This record gives sequence, structure tokens and C-alpha cells, in this order.
Amino acid sequence: MIQRIDLRGADRDAVDYRAAVPRADFDVEAAVPAVHAICEAVRTRGLDAIRDFGQRFDGVTVDDIRVTPEALRTALDELDPAIRAGLEESIRRLRATCANELERDAVTDLAPGARVTHRKVPIDRVGLYVPGGLAPLVSSVLMNVVPAQTAGVGSIALASPPQKEFGGQVHPTILAACALLGVEEVYAVGGAQAIAMFAYGVGPCAKVDLVTGPGNIYTVTAKRLLKGQVGIDSEAGPTEIAILADDTGDAAYVAADLISQAEHDPLAASVLVTTSERLADDVEAELDKQVSATKHVERIRTSLSGNQSGIVLVADLEQGLDVVNAYAAEHLEIHTEDASSYAARVRNAGAIFVGPHAPVSLGDYCAGSNHVLPTAGCACHSSGLSVRAFTKSVHVIDYSRDALAEVADHVVTLAEAEDLPGHGAAVRVRFGE
Ligand code: NAD
Repeated sequence: MIQRIDLRGADRDAVDYRAAVPRADFDVEAAVPAVHAICEAVRTRGLDAIRDFGQRFDGVTVDDIRVTPEALRTALDELDPAIRAGLEESIRRLRATCANELERDAVTDLAPGARVTHRKVPIDRVGLYVPGGLAPLVSSVLMNVVPAQTAGVGSIALASPPQKEFGGQVHPTILAACALLGVEEVYAVGGAQAIAMFAYGVGPCAKVDLVTGPGNIYTVTAKRLLKGQVGIDSEAGPTEIAILADDTGDAAYVAADLISQAEHDPLAASVLVTTSERLADDVEAELDKQVSATKHVERIRTSLSGNQSGIVLVADLEQGLDVVNAYAAEHLEIHTEDASSYAARVRNAGAIFVGPHAPVSLGDYCAGSNHVLPTAGCACHSSGLSVRAFTKSVHVIDYSRDALAEVADHVVTLAEAEDLPGHGAAVRVRFGE
């Protein structure tokens, strides 16, 4: 069911681990023409285009894309108490980590009367995307909203695909989570058309400054295309899990965790990197056993048997670390002896789960960490969603006349070196020159 790649004999100085490790065939470039057409249609035809795409891709006609306050209230009133308790615990943990992530202004006094402040400012208005094509990801409501609220964002809009099963309404559990968090502006719009609606401002939805949230290839491609017109967090596409394990790994746990992420999407990637051939064999046997007992068997089989998934054999954990750092997985689990010390040496991963009792599904819902994470190798340059994503910073420069005088000659000299004498003159004029 899952391919095996043996890197034990690879020439470590020459091998390109990024190319050697399986990777999802997540071809954003190929999706660009179709997504560009959707974004342009939303920009030029507005609500009519959004309704047409809802009909075409979600199979429903939505007359009023804005969810009413009554629908939000009813969804919360009718929420299963056990789900409500789970959401409340998840919110409590996320709020605690988010409060701790809030950054203070950095004030630097460079000389008497010379102060530079690095001031943190929340983004004015954000558009949060919550996937709903394959599964109603209610947890993504919390992962988007809690850091935005903690950062102090003033205006929050949220979009999620209209559900045929619910007459074109957003999934009721997603609505209930919005109501629980006090989010009042919710739209039944999915995929690329939702991102374009946020970026341009369409119908009842005013333009936002930043779009965040995960999604499928159409959603991610729209974020890439509209970046600049609007800010984005990272490209958080189809899920990936990599597991670094030695002989101490528990095959049943490892297999269950590979399956848990394969369940998200046929394009999801599940990769085990291990020093142990015995563990590799046992995990394969466990996969055979466990997959048939799951609900989404076909989706999981497609994901595990695809090019993007595999078991990679390495000679030792040093090589394993090189492989996982090159792969830069969205989620990385470490199932080795002394897992913390290996975790400390990982540089590239969206989130790192240490030891046998921190499965990715804990992070998906209730760890207190964020599950909106960069995919497709982007973890080597991007971070997961956090309070920081909803904040920008601005330098505030406050110099007295005396403090300016102290560096005036340097400014003039540097301005002349750049052949920009007007810059120097702007300083000299303050001293009567
Ligand atoms: P989604 O909500 O982003 O996409 C659904 C929308 O796609 C639909 O509303 C529809 O408008 C659009 N669509 C469908 N077919 C289309 C077509 N042929 N052309 C144009 N648009 C089309 O997402 P989903 O499908 O539910 O998938 C969610 C994804 O999010 C999964 O891949 C999952 O792994 C991923 N995810 C990632 C993270 C992360 O942090 N990286 C977190 C959670 C989920």
C-alpha cells in the first residue's frame, strides 16, 4: 500500500534529500489559469460570479451569502453539549498560548533624546477561511479566530463553503463555533471565490487587509495569486505528516498517526523516516490492519499509496534529521529515544510533536498550538498561524534637535555617497545651513 525508499546507502554529500523524499503532486501552477479566471470573475462580476461558482462547485444556489444573526444563534443553541465542551477546552488552551505570544513594543534609547520604538499594531480587518469541501473543519474556526482576537484585530469576517446538505448554509457546527467566539460576520462562500471576495470586497463583504486559513489547491492558489492585493499568512494546503522514528517507535501509534493525516485529503502526504527495518515492516502490517477499519477508506488508501507518501529507510538518526529538515513537513512527529533532543535539532517543520503521547491529532484540536501550518516545503521559510500573523509593526522615530545634531554629519556624508544631496539638505536646513 505504501512505497519504500531506501536511503541507507546514499552518498550523504551528494544526495538531494528534498528530491529523494516523496512529495505531494500539489501543482499550484497548473491550477493558476482556472483560479485566475475565478478571481477575475469575482472582481468584475461580484456577487453574481460568487453565486455562479457556488452553484458550479458546491452544488447550491445561495441568494444571501451573509449568514444571519438568527442562524448563528440557533446553531449555538442547538450545538451538542459534548462538542461545545470540546470547543471550549480547545479555546481555553489556545487563548493561553496566544496571550503568552503577544509581543510588547521594543523601545530602544540610542542616545539622550534619540529613541526608536518598534510598535506592534494589529491588522485592521481580516478575512478568515475555514475549509468545508471535504470535511467541516470547525477546529479551523478556533485556530483562525483566537489569535486574531488576541492580537486585537478590530474587524473579523469569516467564510466557509455553503453546504448542500444544509440548504446552502455554512455547516451548523462551524456557525456554532463562530457564535461561541462572538464572530458575527460570516459568509457562505468557499474556495477561490471566498479569497477573491475578501481581497476585493464584494457585496456585503468589505475588503480585508489580510486573509488567513487553510484550504485545498484552489484556495491556496487564490492566496498566492492575490498576495499583494491582500496580505496572506502561509500557503497552508493539503496536510502532510512526517514521522522520525527509531526502533523504540510503537508501530500501532505510528500507523494510526500516518492514517490520521491521510484522512484529510487524497492529496495528503504521510511519510515515515526510520532507522528500523523491523519498525517499517510492522508499520506496514499495522496500516493494512487499521486502514480497513476507518471511515474514509478510499481517501486514505489513495493518499497512502500515492507518490506523496512512503517509508524512508535511513542509516542513522543523523541522516534522518537531514531528511526531515530537507522535507520541511507541515507536521513532524519524533518517536525516538530522547525525542526532545532530536526535536531541538529540527529547523524546518510547521509544528513538532515530541514523543509517543503528542500525536498530530492532539495539535489538530486541543494541544493549545495552532493547526494552520505551512505545507509543500514552505516550512523552511514560513511559520504557522499565530498572534504575530495578525500583527504588523512600525518603527516610530523620535529624535530631539540635539540628538539629530549628533548624527547630522553622518547623514549628510552618506547622502552624498548615494548622490542624493537633497537628503543631506533636509538635515542641514534644520541647523540654519
Ligand atoms: P476548501 O474548503 O478549501 O475547498 C472547498 C472549495 O473548493 C469548494 O467550496 C469549491 O468552491 C472549491 N472547488 C471545488 N472544486 C473546484 C474546482 N474544480 N475548481 C475550482 N474550485 C473548486 O477545502 P477542502 O476541499 O475541504 O480541503 C481542505 C484542505 O485543507 C485539505 O487538503 C486539508 O488537508 C487542508 N488543511 C490544511 C491545513 C494546514 O494548516 N495546512 C489545516 C487544515 C486543513
